[in-house]
Amino acid sequence: MSARSCWIVSFAVVACLELPGCRPESFPVPGSFRRVPATHRPGVVPDLPAPRRPSAPPLQIPRTTLNPWKPKVPERDWKYIVIHHTGTSQGSVAGIDAVHRKRKDKRGHHWLGIGYDFVIGNGRGMGDGEIEATFRWRKQIQGAHAGVRKYNEYGIGIALVGNFDKTRPTAAQLRAVKRLVGTLKAAYGIGSDHVLGHSDVRATDCPGRNFPLADVSSSRRLPAFVDRRPVPQPVRFVGLRGRFQR
Ligand SMILES: [Zn+2]
Repeated sequence: MSARSCWIVSFAVVACLELPGCRPESFPVPGSFRRVPATHRPGVVPDLPAPRRPSAPPLQIPRTTLNPWKPKVPERDWKYIVIHHTGTSQGSVAGIDAVHRKRKDKRGHHWLGIGYDFVIGNGRGMGDGEIEATFRWRKQIQGAHAGVRKYNEYGIGIALVGNFDKTRPTAAQLRAVKRLVGTLKAAYGIGSDHVLGHSDVRATDCPGRNFPLADVSSSRRLPAFVDRRPVPQPVRFVGLRGRFQR
């Protein structure tokens, strides 16, 4: 570039800077060489960031709400749920207990009592859909229902009163067994594939050809009542101004 051309270009640049409206928004302010954000210029109200709100405290759900059948003693390492029917048209925990006490194990010892952990009534002998836990569940001792040691020791035995080769469980029984199975699965981390019919572990007709095992084994815990009131947070001192904050 010749000296004359250089002078012409320099003059054009200076003239452009002095003309109003020619300076681009992002051009440095002469003297400061610092870009001024649009929101910091006079007459421009900046957008203030939204005040930060403390996140909601975690909900505290009592375990008893999630598992109303939680025993008061340390629990066994449950891995299975085994479903039975009583094979009778009526029955109760007391009646089954009396029958099972007469049975003997392989060593000739009488059973301690009813072999199941839970019984669900059908309205004849117990309430329709009534769930009753037995002494085995309350004391968390091994069951006597599966006929296979592994499933007696690690399987929760649930019996529904009825003969489901001939009839079907009542609607109340089905609701009850789904609620119980869903709760126990969640409480002890038992998968649907470990919810078994008695005939899955031993050659037997129990719990009957009309029992909807697939439907029951996929049960999930029903939504429990949850106390949504905020949990009180400890008061803590912030700063020297004497302000207290929750
Ligand atoms: Zn059975």
